[in-house]
Amino acid sequence: MSKIDLTFQATAVLGDNERRIWRTLQVLLFIIGLGLFATLIFFPDIGVVAFWNVLIPVAPLLFLVAAGVWRNICPLASVAMLPHHFNFSKRQRIPIKWQNRLALISVVLFFVIVPARHLALNNDGLATAAALTFLGSLAFIGGLQFDVKSAWCSGLCPVHPVEKLYGQNVGYTPANAHCGACHNCVIPCPDSISKADTPKPRSLQDLATTLLTGGLPGFIWGWFHVPDCRSGIAGWGECLTAFGLPWATLVVTLVAYILLRKFLPKNRETMLTSVFAAASISCYYWYRIPSLFGYGIIPQDGILVDLTQTLPLWSIAVMQVSFVAFFGWWMLLRNNKPVAWAVRPPFLVKKK
Ligand code: SF4
Repeated sequence: MSKIDLTFQATAVLGDNERRIWRTLQVLLFIIGLGLFATLIFFPDIGVVAFWNVLIPVAPLLFLVAAGVWRNICPLASVAMLPHHFNFSKRQRIPIKWQNRLALISVVLFFVIVPARHLALNNDGLATAAALTFLGSLAFIGGLQFDVKSAWCSGLCPVHPVEKLYGQNVGYTPANAHCGACHNCVIPCPDSISKADTPKPRSLQDLATTLLTGGLPGFIWGWFHVPDCRSGIAGWGECLTAFGLPWATLVVTLVAYILLRKFLPKNRETMLTSVFAAASISCYYWYRIPSLFGYGIIPQDGILVDLTQTLPLWSIAVMQVSFVAFFGWWMLLRNNKPVAWAVRPPFLVKKK
């Protein structure tokens, strides 16, 4: 892998005030992240609720509305960008073929990590902390070795494919608060280019995009029908259910997506992707909202606060329908021009 030419000079992009605000938010989120990490270890009962039942349920909505904001403040992104900001990254360039491979690996990671929540992560603070340590180490090593966001935020991060799927038509585009100046670290840059203008994905990226877009609605449906394992170490049967059901239902919607894509006119492909993205996020909140308040199909799983004695069942149904209507409107009916997640900073300019 070739080393990037460092005989360039960055051009400032953010105004001082704006830079200060984003840096403050990044540091704040980083400290909150560290606090959450410590809570997972020392107060695991609170930690798993805060992580899995507060932070994670908010994330898809944020990706939908303002993916660029999350990418500016995500604590794992800050970990990955530490070597860049403090100037000790080796800044190697990742070849295109490896960018494609990372795209596929990140989707596979997502489809492996999420079922593991049922086996251990959802109810075990230490296991969640260990998983975060693993992902944080990958992010840091990626940032240490490779330029800007190429290895983690736009590469291996298992959340990145979901950002790409949900964040197709964001409502707010902030400045890119991490890059400083654009090193062209990935081509095309997922932060800076409107999803409608993204060149057709190539080979493995195409496979990764197809796998996630087509498979996610079924995967989510299957995932919500698997109970959490609460008996300590999971047996083979529990592993088979935790992975087998979401993967089986993933295949069902994936096949439907591939067939529809094959038979629909080419100019309907973008709409088909939006329909599947809307179906995925709708399915997620359709099951997640009731479970947060104790009305889940597996009542003891995923509870934030048990409101079964105070909140009438019909109010849950109203929330579910409202969310689905909102996602349908946002992704399929809203006639906004597709925009990028973040404003690309000026390209680096060569020193004379
Ligand atoms: S803006 Fe430039 S440096 Fe930042 S992630 Fe995109 S391509 Fe990389």
